[in-house]
Amino acid sequence: MTAEHKEKKDRKEPGYRDINERLGDYDEVERILEPDEVIEQAERCMSCGTPFCHGYACPLANIIPETNELIMEDRWEEALELMLSTHPFPEFTARICPALCEGSCVKGINEQPVAIRQIEKMIVEKGFFEGWVKPRPPEKRRPESVAVIGSGPAGLAAADRLNKLGFKVTVYEKDLNPGGLLLYGIPNFKLDKGIVKRRLDLMSAEGIVFEPGVNVGIDISYNYLKRRFSAVLLTGGTQLPRDLDIPGRDLDGIIFAMQFLKAQNKRIVGEPLTPEENITVRDKKVVIIGGGDTGSDCLGTALRQGAEEVYQLEILPRLPEERPEGNPWPLWPKIDRQSSSHLEGGIRRWSVTTKKFVGDDQGRLKSLQCCEVEWVDKDGRMMPVEKESTDFTIEADLAILAMGFLGPGPDPLADQLGLERDQSSNLFVDDNYMTSSPGIFSAGDMARGQSLVVRAMADGKSAADHIKEYIDKM
Ligand SMILES: Cc1cc2nc3c(=O)[nH]c(=O)nc-3n(C[C@H](O)[C@H](O)[C@H](O)COP(=O)(O)OP(=O)(O)OC[C@H]3O[C@@H](n4cnc5c(N)ncnc54)[C@H](O)[C@@H]3O)c2cc1C
Repeated sequence: MTAEHKEKKDRKEPGYRDINERLGDYDEVERILEPDEVIEQAERCMSCGTPFCHGYACPLANIIPETNELIMEDRWEEALELMLSTHPFPEFTARICPALCEGSCVKGINEQPVAIRQIEKMIVEKGFFEGWVKPRPPEKRRPESVAVIGSGPAGLAAADRLNKLGFKVTVYEKDLNPGGLLLYGIPNFKLDKGIVKRRLDLMSAEGIVFEPGVNVGIDISYNYLKRRFSAVLLTGGTQLPRDLDIPGRDLDGIIFAMQFLKAQNKRIVGEPLTPEENITVRDKKVVIIGGGDTGSDCLGTALRQGAEEVYQLEILPRLPEERPEGNPWPLWPKIDRQSSSHLEGGIRRWSVTTKKFVGDDQGRLKSLQCCEVEWVDKDGRMMPVEKESTDFTIEADLAILAMGFLGPGPDPLADQLGLERDQSSNLFVDDNYMTSSPGIFSAGDMARGQSLVVRAMADGKSAADHIKEYIDKM
C-alpha cells in the first residue's frame, strides 16, 4: 500500500437507520460498516511514530495503530487478541464511546480522523460471530476472594481483571440486574441490552458470581464482607443528580433524567415498574433542562414514546462547528455535536435559563418561565447574566432535569465506615485506589466523579491491579 493510495480514502461512518423507522422502535440506531470499508479505514491509519490515539487519548491505552495494521492484513483474530489485551469490553465502547482516540488522531490535524470506533466495532462483533470471544476462566484459582460493590463498567472491568488474576470475585448490585448505567441509564437505541447480557453471561461462565438485588451496607454489613473477602472495591457510581432550586420545584411533573431513562430501560428488560416509576410522555409536552448527552438520551426516549413536543434547554452558549482557538489538536475538540436523537426532532435552545416552574391549581406543572442569558467575565469566572426583555414561557406537562450529577451522594457502606470524601464529595482514594480505610478501594464515577464508560473501565482495571498488590503483601 503506497502512501499516495492511503491518502485517497476518506473517513467513512455507517450512519443511522432511517428516522421514521427508528422512531418506531428502541433498537440500536447506528449501522455497522462493511468489512471492506473497515479495512479502508484501517488503511487510512498512518501508523504514527507517536500515536496520540493510543498513548495520549485512550484511557485504556488501546494499541490502535498495530491493531489497524493487522486489519489491513486481514488478520482479524489477531487484531481481536491485541484489542482484548488492553480492553475488557470493546463491544460497549464500540457503541457509546465519544472516541477520545479520534479527537487526537494525527490524521485529524488536516483531514477527518480515522473511524477508530467503527474498526473496534467490527473487530469485536466479528469476534463474537466467529466464536473467538469465549469464556476464558483463569487457569489457576487463588484462595482469596474480592467483593466488588456495583456492577457498572468500573465494577465489571475490575471483576473481569480480578477474575483473570485468579481471585474469586463476587459482584454485588442493588438493582435487580447487573450493568449499572450500561443497563439502566444509556438507552437501548444506543446500546442494546442484549449486548450487555451477552457480556454478563460470559463473565458468569468465567466464574464471576453476581449477586443482584443486594444493597450493600443495608442488606449486608461490612462485618459480613470483612469476614468473607480479602478486599472490597466500591464502584457505586454517582447517584446524586443536580437539582434546580427555583420557585415551583415542588410541583408534580418535574423529575430527574435517570427516573425517566431507568423506567424505559426497565420496560426493555422486562422488569416490573411501580406506579410512581411508570412515567411515559405520549402526547405530552416535555422540556428537558440540560443540553448534554443525558438530555439527548431523554430526547430520543421522549420522541419514541410519542411526545407531542420536546424542548432541550442548555444554559451554556452553543459551541462552534470547528475547533476554536485555544482548543488545538490533540486536545478533545470542543465543538457542537449532534447526537442521533437531535436529528430525530425536538427543539434545542442554548444560553437559556429557567427562572420558575408554573403550576395549575392542582399543583401540576403547566409551564416554565425562562429567559436568555449572556456569559460575562466576573473576576476571572464566566457567569450567566440574564438578558433584559428576553423572558419567554414554554408550556410543559413534564420537565426532566438532566443537569449532571453531584457525586455519589449518601452511600450506606461508605457513610457507616466514615470514608473520607474529596472536595467534590466523591470518595477520596490514594494513588492505589485505596480509600481512607485499608483494604477498601474505590473506582469509577464514585471516586472520579461523573465521567465516561471508558474511564470507568480503565479505573476498574487499574484498581484491580492495586488490589492484587495489596493482597500479595498481606
Ligand atoms: C444517561 C446517561 C448516559 C450516558 N451515556 C454515556 C455514553 O454514551 N458514553 C459514555 O462513555 N458514558 C456515558 N455516560 C456516563 C457513564 O455511563 C458513566 O461514567 C459510567 O457508567 C460510570 O461507571 P461506574 O461503574 O463508575 O458507575 P455506574 O455505571 O453508575 O454503576 C454503579 C452501580 O453501583 C450500584 N450501586 C450503588 N450503590 C450500591 C450499593 N450500596 N450496593 C450495591 N450496588 C450499588 C448502582 O446501582 C449501579 O448499578 C452516561 C451517563 C448517563 C447518566
